[in-house]
Order: sequence, then C-alpha cells, then structure tokens
Amino acid sequence: MAGQVIYGVGKRRNYACRPLDEQALFRLGANPDRLMPLALMQGENNLSPDDLPELPLIDYELMLAHLYAGTFGSAIDQNIDCPDCGKKFSVAFSLNDWVREVRRGLAPRRDRIFDNVPYALPTRAILASVKRDRKALAHRLWQGETALRADRIAAFEAEVAKACPLLTDEIEAPCPRCGETARKRFTLRGHLATRLHTWLRTLLSDIHVLASCYHWSAADILDLPRQTRVALIDTIQLQRRRARGSH
Ligand SMILES: [Zn+2]
Repeated sequence: MAGQVIYGVGKRRNYACRPLDEQALFRLGANPDRLMPLALMQGENNLSPDDLPELPLIDYELMLAHLYAGTFGSAIDQNIDCPDCGKKFSVAFSLNDWVREVRRGLAPRRDRIFDNVPYALPTRAILASVKRDRKALAHRLWQGETALRADRIAAFEAEVAKACPLLTDEIEAPCPRCGETARKRFTLRGHLATRLHTWLRTLLSDIHVLASCYHWSAADILDLPRQTRVALIDTIQLQRRRARGSH
C-alpha cells in the first residue's frame, strides 16, 4: 500500500505501509500510534517512523485511514440508535470514498499566514507538548511577535481546522422505522482503535484456549497458520461440548 500525504515533512510526502498482522498486534497492543511506525516500509524519500510526530495531523490521519483500509478493508459499518423510537440500525459507507471527499474539500495552506502572521500546523509532537489542551494549542501554533488576540482565536482555530482537519464526521441517516434523522459522530482514529481492540481480544482468547489445552507458548501459537489455529479451536470446543453433553 503506497500513498502520498498533503504536507509531509521536509520534502518527504510518500509512504508505503504493510497491513497490520497478529504478531504486531500481540506484541504492541491495540494502539494505532504504536502500530503505525511498525507498518511503515522503508524507501528512498519515504516518510520514516521518525517523521511521524512531526507530520501535520491530517497527513497522519490519512496514513491511518490507509492502514485501516489495507488491514480491514474499505467498507465501514456503523450501528446507530434512533433518538426517537429507539430502533437500532446500521449504516455502511466506503472509507476510501469518504477520504477522497475529505481530500477534495480540503484547502491546503502552503503559506500558512493568518492576520499577516505565520503559523504552524498541529502535529502529534505539538499536541503532546500542550498536553492536548485545545486553548493552549492555538497559542502554540501562532508564531507572531505579539500574542494571538483573544477575539481572533475562534477565527484562527477555524483557519487551522480548514488547513488541517481531523478525519471525523457526523453520520446522518433516516431511521428505517420512523423516518427521523439519526446522527452519530464517527472518528477514523476512534474506529481504528475499536477494531484493533476487538481483534486483540479475539486473538488473546484463541491463544488462551490453545495454551491451556496444549501448553504451547504464545509465540508457537502465533506461528501457526490461521486456518490451523481456527480448526484446532473448533475441535477443542466441539470436544468440550460433547464432554458436557455426556454428563
Ligand atoms: Zn426511529
């Protein structure tokens, strides 16, 4: 999977990443920020793991979206609750289409000037430096000689959000039962983290079943082809059900 970000670091805007696998998930946990560096492939002029903290957030999120699609596929299903009648229903959309739309609506700011003053785009390093405090963030990005005026903060934040949006959206869909519009906030990063957690839980449960049955190590179990593992677990569960049934 290869792609190109919008701003990049220095002259580097290209990247290539491999899909996430169980070994990485088991070793590093379900944290997208720890898994992303491992997924990156080396290449001349490619973004490297060291670049990630310095990347503008939109670039980083585009890479996370790419990693998501490469690992789980581009189709996303979201469960929504109707606020009116309580019906639960699901809405499906294509991550790739959505990302394409976000890219089209984006206004990249090469000059990054606001009120005649230069500013920086938010990065993970900058976010960490202000401890994710949104108010402090605006002042940290502003690079004027004098402080950012209080009555210009909202307009400045809007400018930054346009140049460097987060991949988040309000999903709207009509309820199939009553027709009322139901909404749900979707963030790419949150959704990726949820998928990784579910995956890791299943993986750990598989490892637990095999380890307690055969006394194999986690490393040995992870080395098994997935099909073998699934077949073994099916057999173990079938046998346990039979044992229970015979009592
Ligand atoms: Zn409804």
